[in-house]
Amino acid sequence: IHSFIQLLAVVGIVVKSTGSWYLVRDTATGTLHRCRLRGKFKQKGLKVSNPLAVGDQVEFTVEEQTEGAGVIHHIEPRRNYIIRRSVHKTEHSHIVAANLDQALLVVTLVSPATSFGFIDRFLVTAEAYSIPVTLIFNKADLHDDDLADYQQQIGKMYQRVGYPSLLTSAQSGVGVEEVDALLDSKTTLLSGHSGVGKSTLINVLVPDLDLKTAEISQFSDKGVHTTTYAEMLEVRPGTYLIDTPGIKELGLVDVQPGELAHFFPEMRALLNQCRYHNCRHVQEPGCAVIEAVEKGRIALPRYDSYLSMLHDEDNRH
Ligand code: GDP
Ligand code: ZN
Repeated sequence: IHSFIQLLAVVGIVVKSTGSWYLVRDTATGTLHRCRLRGKFKQKGLKVSNPLAVGDQVEFTVEEQTEGAGVIHHIEPRRNYIIRRSVHKTEHSHIVAANLDQALLVVTLVSPATSFGFIDRFLVTAEAYSIPVTLIFNKADLHDDDLADYQQQIGKMYQRVGYPSLLTSAQSGVGVEEVDALLDSKTTLLSGHSGVGKSTLINVLVPDLDLKTAEISQFSDKGVHTTTYAEMLEVRPGTYLIDTPGIKELGLVDVQPGELAHFFPEMRALLNQCRYHNCRHVQEPGCAVIEAVEKGRIALPRYDSYLSMLHDEDNRH
């Protein structure tokens, strides 16, 4: 005799994935469930190695005989997602996270100094995915007067092209409240070079972090190497922070050299003013971008980043 159990679909959000198992938080109760994906979920036109990523919204059913483990049977369409591009051409790319509201890029001017190249590369990637970015200048406690002036200039340079910034010291707590306010009711990707203070910042921002991390790793550290997978931390209900340990840089996906300037907001507005429609803004006569650089309307470090990225993309294609 079969006992008839009506399995109700539960709505949840993926907070960690190992490739074969997914840790899903029940959106209504906050309970964590180990889940498997049932069947094949191929997404049209998307060549990636993982069907599900942190931030994905899913429906799953909990089966009584499996101690809270569940089966995912539906994935909601993504609002957006970011990809880590494979290094080798034979590998598929990897979805890092889905459904982001914004990204915070933590940078430092000293110990270590984040390069403009790194910052601008990140910003271009975020533009390509339409994800707003705020820059967090951390380790402000190490700034002398000169560095403080320099930080103001850099901050203004990015502010002018659409990227606001905050000044923090994760160590002393200065500016952390402002960061916390920025996170409110959003899903935020936290990124930055190693050593800039991401972990320190997360420690201040996420209450009971040790407990939460233990809970998550209890699920994931079952012999699977998971360090390159992102994980989602709950700051408070409805407010999530996505940490990407081990992911140094997000790859640019499908940005053709000819399109690169579209992802620099200060260049985007000028593109139909160049004499040649296929202008690459390097040395062409009648180039509106070069003219703007010469007149100081486009900051030199930004243009340098453009040239360097153009060069890299040329080598790829
Ligand atoms: P992560 O690699 O980005 O996660 O960086 P960590 O959080 O591990 O920090 C790297 C080092 O910088 C550690 O020694 C931290 O104590 C230090 N650190 C982090 N935030 C600050 C800060 O605001 N000021 C100073 N002086 N040091 C910091
Ligand atoms: Zn041009």
